[in-house]
Amino acid sequence: MRKKIVAGNWKMNGSPELANTLLPRLAEVAKDIQADVLVCPPTVFASLAKNVAGESVAIGAQNCSDKASGAYTGEVSVAMLSEIGLSHVLVGHSERRAIFGETDELIAAKVAAAIEGGLTAVLCVGETLDERESDKTLEIVLGQVKAVLDTLSAEQWTQLVIAYEPVWAIGTGKTATSDQAQEVHQAIRNCLAEYSADGAGEMSLLYGGSVKAANAGELFAQQDIDGALVGGASLDADEFIAICRQA
Ligand code: PGA
Repeated sequence: MRKKIVAGNWKMNGSPELANTLLPRLAEVAKDIQADVLVCPPTVFASLAKNVAGESVAIGAQNCSDKASGAYTGEVSVAMLSEIGLSHVLVGHSERRAIFGETDELIAAKVAAAIEGGLTAVLCVGETLDERESDKTLEIVLGQVKAVLDTLSAEQWTQLVIAYEPVWAIGTGKTATSDQAQEVHQAIRNCLAEYSADGAGEMSLLYGGSVKAANAGELFAQQDIDGALVGGASLDADEFIAICRQA
């Protein structure tokens, strides 16, 4: 049985107040549901989030350095994230790729650093609207997946989760249909199987892009969709809890 995971990505939003009010409520709900619940607040609030979330909600970071330590102003290492009790880190979110110029190579190095440092990496992949419209979705998405898998051993996959997030669906209110999402998830799983059949069956694949309570159930019902990475809706406790309850 693959793990169901519902993850919230606060991006550069939220506050100590939000952590203090949302996380204890979420923690109560998380005790009663099957899915693992993960919240990724801005790193500056992560210690606070960890303290108020208790054991039932995992807290993760939204990014990490691929470097261990040294003269890298503004960067945060995997060891530092681990030191404050974080268990997960998002890597390669489309905003990191598009706005901050992260390449497949850097993303692969960050995933490797995260896994070697004991964290679970949530690798984000996805195509732009242009790429979808020119029929390049699978080429782009599988290329992003392979760039990372080529640098890992299958034993390391227990610390890897992949989130498929079509760029055109992020923050736009435009969700991929459950068929569109399932098609890409299945292609990712088939791609994984070329590396490791057992590993492919066990890896959790999340969908992201305008997930809300109203569309989560249909997405979660798809065979290869094992949960969601939720942006905007994860800032609203009622909405995020309603999504978690459907996983
Ligand atoms: P969204 O963001 O749910 O606001 O579309 C998803 C994400 O960027 O992870």
